[in-house]
Amino acid sequence: MKYRLLLTILCTILLSFSGISQISYSVDALTGKGDLIFVGDENKLQSEVHKAFLEMQKAALKEGVLIEIVSAYRSFDRQTKIWNRKYEAYTLEGIPPEKAIEKIIEYSTLPGTSRHHWGTDIDIIDSSKNQPKNVLSTSHYEKDGVFSDLKNWMDNNAERFGFYLVYTNKKNRKGFKYEPWHYSYKKISKPMLTQFLKVEFYKFINSKNLNGFTFITPKFIKKYTKENILDINSQLK
Ligand SMILES: [Zn+2]
Repeated sequence: MKYRLLLTILCTILLSFSGISQISYSVDALTGKGDLIFVGDENKLQSEVHKAFLEMQKAALKEGVLIEIVSAYRSFDRQTKIWNRKYEAYTLEGIPPEKAIEKIIEYSTLPGTSRHHWGTDIDIIDSSKNQPKNVLSTSHYEKDGVFSDLKNWMDNNAERFGFYLVYTNKKNRKGFKYEPWHYSYKKISKPMLTQFLKVEFYKFINSKNLNGFTFITPKFIKKYTKENILDINSQLK
């Protein structure tokens, strides 16, 4: 008995040193249906993530880069609205449902499966610059783009503050397209991803509230999980 207790204590100490969160999250927390505590008004984040972000923002500002969050936590309902709006727009253009879904999942997730549900992920711009029309466009973050200073700064410093690019420009990566604006706070999002993978999210998705739900088959989900959820920066898995 004593030996067991000692082993438990030792494991706890080792885990805390590894910097990996041991918190167990509910299905609601993992799928954007609440049950998480956030800070911030417009752009909500878990408090530890928020704190790390402020430190990173302060350091960047010293070098003239003003990091601003344009999207942080997003609820299941909000993600459903985004999905349905895109589905309607594409199908009204005459795009067949399956093709419309393929187009949606270039950049947007199925509700319940967004990393933005976790309060660990952010989309960022540099608000010290004149803002272009569609801020979240890849070209703005490339060389000579309006956010190239931000991207350079993040390339050199983000990981030091715990933030990692999720959808990289690695050749042959599948799933969501390259998103140079989307970063994740690894210490919390990595264990959340592990726990999320155990959720039977097919049950959430197979709902009449979701446009095109009849096309979200188990086969589709399998491919979506492999490519969109798991083909990300390997440091986050
Ligand atoms: Zn994002």
